[in-house]
Amino acid sequence: MMIACHECDMLYRLESVPEGSKAICSRCGALLYSHKKNSLDRTLSLIIAGLILFFLSNMFPLIEMKNQGLMMKTTLSQGVKALYNQDMQGLAALVLITCILAPFFQLSGLFYVLLPLKYQRVAPKTPHIFRLIRKLQPWSMMEVFMLGILVSIIKLAKMGTIIPGLSLYSFAALIIILAWATASLDPHIIWDKISAGDNPGVKHD
Ligand SMILES: [Zn+2]
Repeated sequence: MMIACHECDMLYRLESVPEGSKAICSRCGALLYSHKKNSLDRTLSLIIAGLILFFLSNMFPLIEMKNQGLMMKTTLSQGVKALYNQDMQGLAALVLITCILAPFFQLSGLFYVLLPLKYQRVAPKTPHIFRLIRKLQPWSMMEVFMLGILVSIIKLAKMGTIIPGLSLYSFAALIIILAWATASLDPHIIWDKISAGDNPGVKHD
């Protein structure tokens, strides 16, 4: 496989780089590729933590509001429904895609791809799913939504007592975990393992 330097376009034949080391462009000194240490195991653990946080974020209330003895709790999906009912279908769809569907697809898809790879197996349709995950990555934008929540909390605080729900904390943690998992994922290693799994005769480690 050939790769090009993203700075000066010099072409290189990609050879395996030892774990923890980097390949540097000999012409301009740009980083071509770094073999991240324990990338697969680390990413997989982060994905599992992410899935747990995702379920917490969706099961528990985002905010609780007390107003003259009245107690209101809102979960993420109830929030989406409320937006939809208030004639904000576009915004409801955007929140649904960026905060629920895209992160869930990303987390469960990576889990589906990475877990078998850890045991030198390749799950059916892995190349398609992995390519799709990489394409959909920009669509999980929970941090944008998080900002929206904080703004509405400040606005709502005038109307009563606002108590941040458990989901708000797990949501914040999920944003960090997902960014970390994306950063620790090494697509070169994954493609290496996928192609190794396609030919069982070739031994790879
Ligand atoms: Zn270069």
